[in-house]
Amino acid sequence: MSEQTTEDGDGGGATIDALLAEHRTFPPPAWIKKEALVTGTFLYDEAARDDQGFWARQAGELLDWEREWDTICDWQLPYSRWFVGGTLNVAHNCVDRHVAAGRGDKVAIHFEGEPGDERTVTYAELLDEVQRFANALKDLGVQAGDRVNIYLPMIPEAAVAMLACARIGAAHSVVFGGFSSQALADRINDAEAKVLITADGGHRRGEVFPLKPAADEAVASTSTIEHVVVVRRGGNDVEMVDGRDHWYHELVAAAAPDCPAAAFDAEQLLFLLYTSGTTGKPKGIMHTSGGYLTQVAFTHKYVFDLHPETDVFWCTADVGWVTGHSYVVYGPLANGASIVMYEGVPNHPGNDRFWAIVEKYGVTIFYTAPTAIRTFMKWGAEEPAKHDLSSLRVIGTVGEPINPEAWMWYHVNIGGERCPIVDTWWQTETGAIMISPLPGATTTKPGSATFPLPGITAEVVDEAGAPVTVGGGYLTLTRPWPSMLRGIWGDPERYRETYWSRYPDRYFAGDGAKLDEDGYLWLLGRVDDVMNVSGHRISTTEVESALVSHPKVAEAAVVGASDAMTGQAIIAYVTLRGGADVPIGELREHVAKEIGSLAKPKTIYLTPDLPKTRSGKIMRRLLRDVAEGRNLGDTTTLADASVVDEIQRRAADTPAEG
Ligand code: ATP
Ligand code: MG
Repeated sequence: MSEQTTEDGDGGGATIDALLAEHRTFPPPAWIKKEALVTGTFLYDEAARDDQGFWARQAGELLDWEREWDTICDWQLPYSRWFVGGTLNVAHNCVDRHVAAGRGDKVAIHFEGEPGDERTVTYAELLDEVQRFANALKDLGVQAGDRVNIYLPMIPEAAVAMLACARIGAAHSVVFGGFSSQALADRINDAEAKVLITADGGHRRGEVFPLKPAADEAVASTSTIEHVVVVRRGGNDVEMVDGRDHWYHELVAAAAPDCPAAAFDAEQLLFLLYTSGTTGKPKGIMHTSGGYLTQVAFTHKYVFDLHPETDVFWCTADVGWVTGHSYVVYGPLANGASIVMYEGVPNHPGNDRFWAIVEKYGVTIFYTAPTAIRTFMKWGAEEPAKHDLSSLRVIGTVGEPINPEAWMWYHVNIGGERCPIVDTWWQTETGAIMISPLPGATTTKPGSATFPLPGITAEVVDEAGAPVTVGGGYLTLTRPWPSMLRGIWGDPERYRETYWSRYPDRYFAGDGAKLDEDGYLWLLGRVDDVMNVSGHRISTTEVESALVSHPKVAEAAVVGASDAMTGQAIIAYVTLRGGADVPIGELREHVAKEIGSLAKPKTIYLTPDLPKTRSGKIMRRLLRDVAEGRNLGDTTTLADASVVDEIQRRAADTPAEG
């Protein structure tokens, strides 16, 4: 890595400086190319000639339609409709058709509970349970177009509940089981949901965490819930309200076994999902059926180079996040894959739990988040080394920029230096992966998400909206895509304002990005987080990556805080690898050496942890509040409030290092 300046480095175009230069490259391994679905550029070429025709071909080949569409895409900025006039049933596509094709005995879900219990669900069993539960929902009065809230641990019933809603044309709104009753109540009220599906409790960190009491509290402050369905999982005592509350197992046992999968419009609302809330108040993102399922099936197949006969796919995300919707449930099941679903935390009973699961089920494709990888780095390479990970073929990441050193750690210690890594950029709003390598076709660079997928057009633009060819700027999408959000529930104004007001004719993703000389895309973090130091626009990602490239650093978050001298000064919060110690001055010099002295943090605080959302993303806006001595903004999506208290305490105690 070397120091490098850019044309806009003096603040002229005022986009974002490109400081980090990463020169390592990893071509697709020969053993992957031999069996890969894609090795050349044919998909890209086809999509470049006619993107709508390309998506129509995918929709036709990957899914079963009851009625074919009349129009591929109706685009009236900022609203798109895809496969207009077409009808399909999402649950039929994820379950029934695999059974009808003779694959009923194939495993759909390998479930592993945190206490170590197992359950295998075949496609035939899944079909039976989805039909029965769909009938149970109908019996409770749920109709097409209604909203149903789901508040469950990571158990097979979560997938069953989602598919049962889809089967009868009701929209689900899944709320992560770790959220408070208040967060659940807000989401129920926003969606005006009729039914809530929850559990007595689930297993986490070796204990039973109760869910039902939080669900009861939430329902008490909502007026639309008529029935609550309770899955028995934790075994903890719960109170059941007569007439309102029902045990899941009793409903399923009593329900009629056959529930025909009626076809719905391609634009039928499939789900609402609230964003992680990294930057502010969560938004209720709307996704519909035909376009969404087309793109999740397409991306799941090609980005992970899926061979459904032999692959065992494990996406570690919770179903409460979009990654869990698209790559635990809808993508893999639409493709007839076998998935692993794990209930608990990665460090119970030991720090090697994930690797024990990979070995036990022979996982071939593994998909996780950079925050998890940095945690594994903190725990040390000896944890994965305890297990045979040779079944792995393709490994992926999503959720945040991956620092090049974290990428290398993943490559060496999990991928055994033989598995291609797919760094996938996308958002709740995009519904499916947008920017990513293809394992058999793309030469990767550590830390780069590489190129837009076939059928997707992304451009980096400057402040004025002019495309940047080399250097930093703002990530935009220029063409509609099948799984794009259809709006923000109940708030069309916020929809226009957030995504469509900054540039005419472009979707503004809210992320910074740069293009290198080879046309590779590098995500630079949130635009709101970009720091302005002496007229230089510096991304948080590059300074954090420079810090993480120090051998003793596991994780870092940087923010810009107002500074009389330089406009903003860089403040860094750094977590060291297990047992390490390092002088602050050494870290500052390390950054200067890696990316230049203008990016040298003014102050560095060592901290045992960083404030994160419940999905594990660093919340820099809270660190900025701390650094500038403000009251904290919206903290409802914060995973652990004590982390911020600790950082505030340290900030008050430690004299600034300058
Ligand atoms: P909110 O919009 O409420 O602030 P959020 O943006 O964290 O929450 P998500 O939709 O879960 O909610 O996250 C999408 C964001 O995650 C992207 O906009 C981007 O900032 C980040 N991201 C996801 N994947 C990647 C990746 N591979 N590389 C870099 N950043 C990524
Ligand atoms: Mg976002």
